[in-house]
Amino acid sequence: MARRKQTRGACAFCKKEYTKGGMKKHLSACSSFNEAVRKAEASKKKAQNLYHLVVRDAFMADFWLHLEMNGSAMLEDLDQYLRAIWLECCGHLSEFQPGKRRYQKPELDMSLKADDVFPQTKELIHLYDFGTTSETLVEAVGVRKGKPLISHPIALLARNNLPEVSCKECGKPARFLCMECVYEEDESGLLCEAHAKTHPHGDYGEPTPLYNSPRTGMCGYEGPAEPPY
Ligand SMILES: [Zn+2]
Ligand SMILES: [Zn+2]
Ligand SMILES: [Zn+2]
Ligand SMILES: [Zn+2]
Repeated sequence: MARRKQTRGACAFCKKEYTKGGMKKHLSACSSFNEAVRKAEASKKKAQNLYHLVVRDAFMADFWLHLEMNGSAMLEDLDQYLRAIWLECCGHLSEFQPGKRRYQKPELDMSLKADDVFPQTKELIHLYDFGTTSETLVEAVGVRKGKPLISHPIALLARNNLPEVSCKECGKPARFLCMECVYEEDESGLLCEAHAKTHPHGDYGEPTPLYNSPRTGMCGYEGPAEPPY
C-alpha cells in the first residue's frame, strides 16, 4: 500500500504518539511507563530479565509493535501474541529463525525461552503460513532487570496507528480494500466507505475492511487485530 509519511503509534501508558524510532526514547522518559514500573517493583513478583522487543512487518514499515517479553517466556508465547494481534487467519504453521534473512538457519524450538534466545541473537524472523507468507522481524533493542508489568508473559508497550491511506476514487480516508483491484488490475484497491458500497468488483468477494494488521488482504484475513490480553 502506498503511503506518504511515517506512521505514528501510541504509547500504551500515556497514549502520546510517536514514530517507531521515537518510541524507545519516549518510553524511557515516559512518566506513566515509569509509574507502572515502580508499581510492579513494589509487588511480590520475582525479578527477571525483561526484553524490549521492536517488532515490524518485513515489508510494510507502517506496522510495528514495541513489546516487553519476560526472560522466562517461550518463543511459543511470542508466536501466540503475534498471531493474536496481527496474523491468525486459519491456523497456518509458523516458525522463528535467528537473524533477519529467512532460510539461513534451521528454525528455533518454540519451547526456547527469551533468556535462551536473545543473549545469542538480537534479531529473529517469524514466518507465518508457508503459502502466503507473512514475515515479521523481531529485534531485541534492550533488556532490563525487573518485575514484569503484567501477569502475562508479554506486555504491549506501543503499536502503530492504523496507517492513513486514501480512497483511489476520491482521496478520502480509505477503510476497505478490493482484492480484485490488487490482483487483477494492479491497482491499490483502497476504497472509502461510499466507494466500497458502489464498487463493481466481486470476483474476490466484497471489499475487505482494513485492519491494523500487515495481514490485511492476505489469505482471507478477517481481523480482529487485537492484542490477546
Ligand atoms: Zn508514554
Ligand atoms: Zn489463512
Ligand atoms: Zn472514495
Ligand atoms: Zn476492485
